[in-house]
Amino acid sequence: VVRLDEIQKIFRGKIAIGEPLKEYTWFRIGGPADYYCEPADREDVVNIVGYFQKQHFPFLILGKGSNVLVSDDGIRGAVINLGNCLSSVHAEGNTVYAEAGVTIVRFVDFCVQRGLKGVEMLAGIPGTIGGALIMNAGAYGGEISDYLVDVELLNNGVIELRKKTEITFSYRRSGFRNEVILGAGFTLPQGNKEEVVQIRKDLLLKRNRTQPTNMPNSGSMFKNPEGNFAARLIEQAGLKGTRIGGAQISEKHANFIVNHGDATARDVMGLINLAKKKVFENNGIHLELEVKLLGFDDSVEKGRTA
Ligand SMILES: Cc1cc2nc3c(=O)[nH]c(=O)nc-3n(C[C@H](O)[C@H](O)[C@H](O)COP(=O)(O)OP(=O)(O)OC[C@H]3O[C@@H](n4cnc5c(N)ncnc54)[C@H](O)[C@@H]3O)c2cc1C
Repeated sequence: VVRLDEIQKIFRGKIAIGEPLKEYTWFRIGGPADYYCEPADREDVVNIVGYFQKQHFPFLILGKGSNVLVSDDGIRGAVINLGNCLSSVHAEGNTVYAEAGVTIVRFVDFCVQRGLKGVEMLAGIPGTIGGALIMNAGAYGGEISDYLVDVELLNNGVIELRKKTEITFSYRRSGFRNEVILGAGFTLPQGNKEEVVQIRKDLLLKRNRTQPTNMPNSGSMFKNPEGNFAARLIEQAGLKGTRIGGAQISEKHANFIVNHGDATARDVMGLINLAKKKVFENNGIHLELEVKLLGFDDSVEKGRTA
């Protein structure tokens, strides 16, 4: 059990009880968190995580909420939002250090402005460094782990510097468990500034042409099965444009589900289950979710690894 007056003694950031999470997810979907915390700074992050761990109180971390579906019942436990703090980025030569709350957009811009190459293709990913490392986010042939050197994290209350070689990364997957990512270092090759600026521009235009960027969504819902594309399989199953309540399989890109404004997590789950069932019937392929389901179980820990 946790107590608000106790938390306020060690925590200077924003704290709210029963805060609706739809405000903090890209999908604009999600019920209330029992406790919702926005740390003021790094010390606050360390203190609040330490407090919840000591009390054995379940908590989960949110970045920009761009790769999650939060249930309509919300989260039993606490949500610590790092999307608005831990936002410093600096460079020493070709090495860039970014805190976990730095957006990918800002990180890429920081690198591109210095003519550093290797991350320009990630520019349109709407999350944070922390969320991108958990997901091993990637696009157009690049992944956030490509030029990673090390990650600073909180592991059971202890701040640790973990080398890339000690972490496993694969397609949209990382080997982190319950660690809280505080920041990361990347060493990037020197490139030509005009060239990387142009690549970023071209790929952002391509993204806008092919993805439904004008409606709330959560990016690709499913991972691409080996040698295939989830979007193609869903389209072949005749599901493009299918609607349940306020949620719809995008007309523009079948691996995206869009929110028409009043979609519930239940509507989205209906479409997820329909796509899984039809694709399996058609092709014998089990689609695996890329989006993380949060709060679909009593335990937030389970949600995190779902
Ligand atoms: C329009 C759109 C386009 C997208 N395009 C792409 C794309 O091209 N490629 C791609 O890979 N993804 C894409 N995504 C998905 C998403 O943006 C990425 O996965 C992103 O990196 C998630 O970052 P986030 O900060 O939003 O994480 P969140 O969604 O907030 O969290 C994701 C997971 O990471 C955990 N987490 C977040 N921060 C931390 C931290 N500091 N410490 C520990 N755990 C943490 C959360 O608990 C959760 O399990 C897209 C999404 C949208 C909406």
